[in-house]
Amino acid sequence: VVEATVAPLPETLGGQGAVIVSRDISLQSQLDRMRQDFVANVSHELQTPLTIIRGFTETLIDDQDIDEASRTRFTRLIHEEANRMSRLVDDLLTLSRMEHHSLPFSLEGVDVAMLAESVVSRMAPRAEEAGLALEARIPSVLPLVSGDPDRLQEVLLNLVQNAIQYTPQGGRVTVAAQSDAASGLVGISVKDTGIGIPAEDLPRIFERFYRVDKARSRASGGTGLGLAIVKHIIELHQGRIEVNSTVGQGTEFVVWLPQHRENGGTDGE
Ligand code: ADP
Repeated sequence: VVEATVAPLPETLGGQGAVIVSRDISLQSQLDRMRQDFVANVSHELQTPLTIIRGFTETLIDDQDIDEASRTRFTRLIHEEANRMSRLVDDLLTLSRMEHHSLPFSLEGVDVAMLAESVVSRMAPRAEEAGLALEARIPSVLPLVSGDPDRLQEVLLNLVQNAIQYTPQGGRVTVAAQSDAASGLVGISVKDTGIGIPAEDLPRIFERFYRVDKARSRASGGTGLGLAIVKHIIELHQGRIEVNSTVGQGTEFVVWLPQHRENGGTDGE
């Protein structure tokens, strides 16, 4: 849809004829709509923990005879909800910095095996707590990828964290990698044997605040922004992310990243 305004040509340009000022209002209104939805979503996401915090603090203030065990439980819940709000605000700041290109970002040669090992060792306690096997299976010879090591670590941590959260006890989470000679890309995969994602939800899981199961995401402390951040980071790397999933069997995310091209370094091809 194009909105057009017709105005007489100014005297300085001869005064005869007309200028047509047009702008694409469908794009404009789409953007306005997205912004409104986003603000509504953020408000809603903040409202829920705030309501819980307000409820419990009111009880603690009003009810002087509350027993010690309940007092401790309520204080813990308040703390948990405050943490949830912090995580949400952190994720929102990360997204906003990425959009304004103000997040530090460097491209260097990144060793995928080292990256995967570091993520697996950081997440090992959580996997163990959840009763899951977690392992990295990276080939011994793999090209370096071109990336920002901290941001790529964030991507893998997010994917492994999700894999752990959405996989029932006794399952397995595997981080693997392969290089594709034809495209020159390196694929890093995070695969789980978890609950899976229904086909109709797959196209939407990278949207901000989109969750397949709200209650489950909430129970696991998720902000609903993890995959939106992951996708954004991959795009900054000129890479892409794929997802395959079967309900009841598991999910695999594959992040494809360009190989690092040496310019005068020691690690030639
Ligand atoms: P959340 O904080 O809710 O985990 P994400 O943006 O990380 O938000 O993920 C969006 C949604 O995608 C999740 O709520 C969940 O429904 C689904 N999801 C993500 N990873 C997995 C996975 N490995 N297995 C099943 N569902 C997943």
